[in-house]
Amino acid sequence: MTVGILGGGISALALAYFLKRDYEILERSSNCGGLCTTFNKNGFLYDIGGHIIFSSNKEILQFEVDLLGDKIHKKRRSNKIWYKGRFVKYPFENGLHSLDKEEIFDCLRDYLKNDHKKPSNLKEWFYYTFGTSISDKYMLPYNEKIWKIDPTLMGMEWVERIPKPPVEDVIKSAIGIETEGYTHQLYFYYPKEGGFQTVIKTFEEKLNNIHTNKEVKAIYKEGKTWKVETNNSEHVYETLASTISIFDLVNILKVDIPEEVKKAVQGLRYNQMAIVLVGLNKIKFNDLTAIYVSDKKSLAHRYCFSAGFADSLSPPGCSSIFAEITFNSDVPKEKIENKEVIDKTVLWLIEEGFIEKSDVCETDIKHIKYAYPVYDLNYVQNMKTIYEYFDSIELNILGRFAQFIYINSDVCISNAKKLAEKLNLKVKV
Ligand SMILES: Cc1cc2nc3c(=O)[nH]c(=O)nc-3n(C[C@H](O)[C@H](O)[C@H](O)COP(=O)(O)OP(=O)(O)OC[C@H]3O[C@@H](n4cnc5c(N)ncnc54)[C@H](O)[C@@H]3O)c2cc1C
Repeated sequence: MTVGILGGGISALALAYFLKRDYEILERSSNCGGLCTTFNKNGFLYDIGGHIIFSSNKEILQFEVDLLGDKIHKKRRSNKIWYKGRFVKYPFENGLHSLDKEEIFDCLRDYLKNDHKKPSNLKEWFYYTFGTSISDKYMLPYNEKIWKIDPTLMGMEWVERIPKPPVEDVIKSAIGIETEGYTHQLYFYYPKEGGFQTVIKTFEEKLNNIHTNKEVKAIYKEGKTWKVETNNSEHVYETLASTISIFDLVNILKVDIPEEVKKAVQGLRYNQMAIVLVGLNKIKFNDLTAIYVSDKKSLAHRYCFSAGFADSLSPPGCSSIFAEITFNSDVPKEKIENKEVIDKTVLWLIEEGFIEKSDVCETDIKHIKYAYPVYDLNYVQNMKTIYEYFDSIELNILGRFAQFIYINSDVCISNAKKLAEKLNLKVKV
């Protein structure tokens, strides 16, 4: 009754943790972590973009806090928007007072006098929710930059991630009274040592049967069992849970997948991402966690400042900045000039006055193939087809790129817990 778990990211580890059955984890890389991996370049540690422990689900947040115990510390978020050469409080609608008076007026007028019709796509949703000026000045350019697709072609299924501010907050923010948005991440937790991957390592300490360097190459259904072939082994399971990307899964699944399911998978859009590390020979910005930049002059949409997370992310006396840059999935990795991307990132930081050239003592770049699922207008229909098919063949799919949902690790843990409860029940009957 062993459960075969394909992939070794946080979804897989959390599933194993909650299972009351035997399991085996097969991970392609030499270590577990997936998107929760922390890289190390000569003592400069950096996550795959800003990774923090937070959740609007109190039970899951408490679970993570208890799991990590004294390995984590609590920090206050200090995210800002970098807009026309100045800091604006994050989220934008809570920082209106930092804009020029004319711009404040425009934002407030359009927010209060908003006759945009009920939305049918993401662009319309921004106009409908925030009014024309806030949308045009920040929301739309920022979202165009991260999603690399016209927002009229995107759906609204993920917008619950963008809290809608109360009217009072927007008025207060416009006249300079402090307000807070996104309060569920105002305080966050972060590992004192080892970067975000410490969350993964803590799970690993409590688990066994994790097999790394096992790339799943083929999956066969044989009667009621699943045969899984890796680069160097063969396994048979009665129950299978796959956390590897849905694209890779359909390629290695050796069953007759209906054409409409293949088409639905091919129809899904996603973005890849590059993370650029800029190591500094001094401690800078320990009062800042991240900045969001909608200006197209900056390749990156977000920059994170290591000193705002943990001193241990850099060698003594040093700090770092890591920049997140998305690319369409169809841009070949070989076409991305690493040196050019790094140079442009450093140059932007210098030109905007964040660093001086002489501060930079280390750089690095990593590419992440599956970074962001993109919710286009066909997303819901495609996912319905895909979910119904995988339900019908009883292959459990779990995780950000397996279920193809824009979720953070807290939701991965919560979904893993639900799946474990379902699979635990099965063994009792
Ligand atoms: C830029 C960015 C910022 C984020 N910020 C946060 C944040 O602040 N807080 C937060 O909680 N979450 C954050 N997240 C989300 C979080 O990283 C993901 O939700 C989570 O890590 C997904 O875990 P997963 O296990 O579902 O998938 P993955 O991490 O993708 O794991 C899949 C695993 O499968 C393995 N695999 C793939 N193919 C095979 C194969 N053929 N055989 C065997 N193994 C295979 C991979 O190597 C990988 O380890 C962020 C994500 C991104 C991209």
